[in-house]
Parts: sequence; C-alpha cells; structure tokens
Amino acid sequence: MMSLMEMLSDSRMRLSCEVFPPKKFEALEDVKRVTGEIAALRPAFISVTYGAAGTTPGLTLEVAESVRAAGVTPLCHITCVQSSREHVTQVLRSMDGAGLRNVLALRGDLPKDGAPCGDFPHAEDLVRFIRTQGDFCVGGACYPEGHPECASRAKDMEYLKRKVDAGLSFLTTQMFFDNGILYNFLYRMERAGIHVPVCAGIMPICDARQVRRVMQLSGSVMPPRFAAIADRFADQPRAMTQAGIAFATEQIVDLVSNGVNKIHLYTMNKPWIAEAIFRNLSDIIGLE
Ligand code: FAD
Repeated sequence: MMSLMEMLSDSRMRLSCEVFPPKKFEALEDVKRVTGEIAALRPAFISVTYGAAGTTPGLTLEVAESVRAAGVTPLCHITCVQSSREHVTQVLRSMDGAGLRNVLALRGDLPKDGAPCGDFPHAEDLVRFIRTQGDFCVGGACYPEGHPECASRAKDMEYLKRKVDAGLSFLTTQMFFDNGILYNFLYRMERAGIHVPVCAGIMPICDARQVRRVMQLSGSVMPPRFAAIADRFADQPRAMTQAGIAFATEQIVDLVSNGVNKIHLYTMNKPWIAEAIFRNLSDIIGLE
C-alpha cells in the first residue's frame, strides 16, 4: 500500500473521504458498515474525525482500524483543546500500537464560554508534541477564507506558517463553495513560503436545511449561484440532493482543470453521496 505522503506528493488526481465515529458504542457496527461502503469506492484515504459531537477517542481508532481492514489508508484526527499532555500521550500510544500513524492534528472547537485551556492552546503546540512521540505523518487544517476567530487573514496565514514549520507534512482545507477563494489562498500560501501538499475540502450540500448551519460553522461565503439552488429546491429533497452533487462535481472539475488534484470529500457518513461523486468523476480520478 502506498503511504499517505506518497499519495499526496504525486501528480495524480486523488479523492479522499471523511467519516465520523458514532457517539455511542452501540452504533459502532452501523458506522463500520457505512465506512466499508465508502472504502469500496477506493478513495485515496479515509479520515476519521475525533471528539466532535462528544465522541470518544477509542471509537475514532476503532473506525480507523476498520478503514485499514477494508484495504484503504486511514487518517486519524486528534484534537487538543481541553486535553492534558498525559491524555494526548495515551491516545498517540494507542494509535502507534495499532499501527495508525497518519494523524490530522487539530485544536478542536473552543468551549462556548471561553479561551483555550489544557496543555496545548493551539494546534501548533500539539503538532510539535506529536513530533516528539514517534514516527507519525502529521497533517493540519487550514482555512481559505481565514479561521473565524482570527482578526485578519494575514495573521491567520502567519499562524499557519508557524504550524507548518512546527512539523506538518500536509494540510486539508475547510470547505469552501467558491473556487476563486481557494486559488487566492494557494497563491497567498506560496507567498508566505508554505509548500506542503494541500487537500481541497469539498462538501456536497444535499439538504437545504444544512446550508445555513454549514455556512455558520465554517465561516464560508455562499456564492449566489448556490443560494439560488438552495432556494429553488429547498422543498424537494431528492432534487436538492441531485443539485448538491452536481454543484460539488462541477466544483471539483474546475479545481482539477486548474491543477488542484487532491480533493477531500466531506460526504460524512453518506455513502450514496460519495458514490454519486465517484461515478461522476470516474474517468478523471487517477489522471496525471
Ligand atoms: P489552530 O491552528 O490552533 O487555529 C485556531 C485559531 O487560533 C485560528 O484563528 C488561528 O489563527 C489562531 N492561532 C493559531 N496559532 C496561534 C498562536 N500560536 N497564537 C495565537 N493564535 C493562534 N474539530 C473536531 O473537534 N474534531 C475533528 O475531527 C475536526 N476535524 C477537522 C478537520 C478539518 C480539515 C478542519 C478544517 C477542521 C476540523 N475540526 C475538527 C474543526 C477545528 O477543530 C476547528 O476549526 C478549530 O476551531 C480550529 O482548529 P485548528 O486545528 O485549525 O486550530
């Protein structure tokens, strides 16, 4: 099996996917089944989120192991907000023991009432620590529109550079719906001296009710073309799904046409959406 870095460093067009573990242990088998269906599409890798919506680290690892068992490279997320050094060390040891050495190092969202706490205030601190803990391939998050908390995009880029210099091998972007924003971001990254591979995060929006929430959470701008789709099909779920898949497919075709070859799909635990996109791009995936 090619390593994650080999896949991210070549010039082929590669699609990867993301899944999230269940909140409760009882739902683990369902999530593994869905993950198996996504793995059957042969994505470059599958990343498994961590801590979001109250999930526990053990379940992230279990789902990541099922990704590997299905013959696909797993990438485990890990967050550090409100975590102690001991806790992070323990999670990394479990990953290392299971042979899971691809990690996406994140801060995680701040608690509603406050500032970062715990031993790692920023992802940069976590990255530096992971680097001392073994032979991990470490990636991080970046925000084409700027992270919502940051005072300016220039400052955000300065912190991103520090985070990459702390030991990141690749980046995955927050979702965006206007490719011009990504092209501008990649240009600014180059100027800032950041040269690691970037996976462009694409979320197919297939439910009009999701739109407002996703825009709020990600701080993304909704292009008028997409707002019109969401308005037109809000009450026709099947049409909205089709339109959301078409919009994401077009977005990816434009990215690939402009040399952005690594695409990370936020299809979450919905294999039918991932399947439709893989089908639409069947002759494009793998192109040099
Ligand atoms: P950081 O890189 O620490 O940045 C956070 C903020 O702090 C930014 O505004 C930045 O400019 C600023 N900053 C950075 N360094 C410094 C510094 N040294 N001094 C001062 N300010 C600084 N959340 C989960 O809970 N689980 C997940 O699995 C998960 N997966 C994600 C995957 C991707 C690809 C993305 C884009 C996000 C994911 N998130 C996840 C959400 C993420 O945790 C939040 O967006 C969080 O608010 C920021 O995380 P970060 O790692 O980018 O933080």
